[in-house]
Amino acid sequence: MKRILQHKLHILCLYFGLLLLCTSVSCHAPELQENKDLSGLGKTVQTQEPGNNHSESKKSNEDGTVKTEKPVSEEKPGVMTAELLDQKPNELGEIMILMYHEIGYLEAEWTRTPENFRRDLETLYEQGYRAVPLMDFVKGNIDIPAGTSPVVFTFDDGNKGNFYYEENESELKPASDCAVGIMEDFYQEKPDFGLAATFFIYYPNPFRESQHIEKKLNYLVSKGFEIGNHTHGHADLSRLNSNEIQRELALHVQKTQEYVAKCEINSLALPYGSYPKKSSNFLLEGSFDGTAYKNEAVLLVGANPSVSPFHEKFNVSRLPRIRASEMKTEGVGLYDWLDYFQRHPDKRYVSDGDPRYVTAPKSHSNFLNEPALGEKKARFYPD
Ligand SMILES: [Zn+2]
Repeated sequence: MKRILQHKLHILCLYFGLLLLCTSVSCHAPELQENKDLSGLGKTVQTQEPGNNHSESKKSNEDGTVKTEKPVSEEKPGVMTAELLDQKPNELGEIMILMYHEIGYLEAEWTRTPENFRRDLETLYEQGYRAVPLMDFVKGNIDIPAGTSPVVFTFDDGNKGNFYYEENESELKPASDCAVGIMEDFYQEKPDFGLAATFFIYYPNPFRESQHIEKKLNYLVSKGFEIGNHTHGHADLSRLNSNEIQRELALHVQKTQEYVAKCEINSLALPYGSYPKKSSNFLLEGSFDGTAYKNEAVLLVGANPSVSPFHEKFNVSRLPRIRASEMKTEGVGLYDWLDYFQRHPDKRYVSDGDPRYVTAPKSHSNFLNEPALGEKKARFYPD
């Protein structure tokens, strides 16, 4: 009797032992592993890469034995593959915000010929740059393939060469030699380059064809281009008081919205690059005559690339721009910086191709501004 009881006790122990073992194994099984806080909000999110089945599949062989097949891709979300590390992603690297003015003839300090502008696009494309909208850059929503670098295009003053219509055409379309036409044609040819630019215009006559203002502004917005504030009348803000500054910025928004209802104006390029002496607070927010404005980016003239939007030194109130010119650039024009990034690839922002993560070499980890991550997660790899 005693032996039977002992035997039953053994079986019972064995049963519970097995149960414990199963529970602990399943807790560590990869397919049940939850991702760490992807949301950044203290929530755990269970994700699965599309088309990436992590569970093992079992197949019967012809001889009847069961063979366990591992899935071809073992990639798990967030894990940095050797392929990705080969691209040397650095999302804490520097980004060029290019500043153009006129596109036309003759080439000058503030004028780029259509031929030279096309060459700029081709060179940027070949060197792995991709166009991203200014607002996406500022918010850190940079969604370009792994190994490529963002570049931001801006045009100041609303000169005619930015956007004019082909003459003698029954249907109005951007001329093939204006900035909009050139960028659209290039995008047709190289869709992966992207189509993005911000036009910083002022009034009364942006793009210098008064009969087409409404049509042009609506066209730009419909194509995903951004319209930016360059003050209402190209004012030198360093000479104005706080009321006058608010007037200049609010009137621009009011006027633009008369042409394009609900058009969002959330960036400002300072005319002459001049910063107000005291009232700089009103560059970001203010109101005049019932119109409020809010700028999420203030652009200087500058001479150097911007730090990454995830970098602790990123300052939306003072974003530097690079002169996209080859004349009088004093060694800090577009081609000087292209050359610099060729010689110092470690300085350049290089995408990891995954908008959920901010990836950089470990040596850059001290520069991370954690609040800028939002819902993204940072990950670092040894240099
Ligand atoms: Zn200007």
